Amino acid sequence: MDYILRATAGEGSVRAFIANTRETVQQAFLYHQTSPVMSAALGRALTAVSMMGSMLKSDTDLITIKINGNGEGKGLVVTGDSKARVKGYVFNPVVDIPLKPNGKLDVQNALGEGTLTVIKDLGLKEPYVGQIPLISGEIAEDLTYYFAKSEQTPSAVSLGVLVDRDYSIKQAGGFIIQVMPDANEDIINALENKLATMKPFTTLLEEGNSIEDILNMLLGEFNVNILDKIPVEYYCNCSRERVEKALISLGEKEIQDIIKEDKGANLHCHFCNKDYVFNEEDLKKLL
Ligand SMILES: [Zn+2]
Repeated sequence: MDYILRATAGEGSVRAFIANTRETVQQAFLYHQTSPVMSAALGRALTAVSMMGSMLKSDTDLITIKINGNGEGKGLVVTGDSKARVKGYVFNPVVDIPLKPNGKLDVQNALGEGTLTVIKDLGLKEPYVGQIPLISGEIAEDLTYYFAKSEQTPSAVSLGVLVDRDYSIKQAGGFIIQVMPDANEDIINALENKLATMKPFTTLLEEGNSIEDILNMLLGEFNVNILDKIPVEYYCNCSRERVEKALISLGEKEIQDIIKEDKGANLHCHFCNKDYVFNEEDLKKLL
């Protein structure tokens, strides 16, 4: 089962989120039949949003990451809640571009140049919206920049997806480590050294390390304290009932127009690719 560990270290001056998300990213792959590079893009974003979701305070808060790029993959949308339930889709699921010289999937080129937008719905009148230009397109670096620029929180973000030969997801996970303003220089320097010399996240998972192990490698010497273990899942809350409500909210005239012109409606959920078909009878019932 996928889960996130929420932890603190250095007497509360460092906070950490670390996640394994293989099953969640595999579910996304099954829904969307993404090519490896787009599985990596979507999986990294799902992993990030699961952790950013668990930073939210209230049960009804929602977080969305939207990437728009001029690459072949065009971008993606991922949404999550405070219980680390996530869902998402990419604008073009099948992108086939060469690997990078280092053998890694080229998410940067698949997304191209563009923007990353973080939208937080905290139940207020207006959602919080923070936008940055994509500075790398690899997502983790972009989020590091986002945290520094929009939330004034120095952070280290690592996100990884390892795709198997049959395109299934072999490993996925990542971490977000944030340094609070009261952190002392020694901790910051030691942490920077550690991050600079650490193997890639999915390599550590491949070697059989649990996220508990990786958390200890990162923060073990700073009195790491695990506060919470949060399950992560791919969860789409669409249903025929919700789609009916959406149709009803269009208003009577609009529904009558649909009956007259189209004799029915076919509504598609982008997050789980389910279709909801309404024939003339169904629509009349809604009226
Ligand atoms: Zn759905």
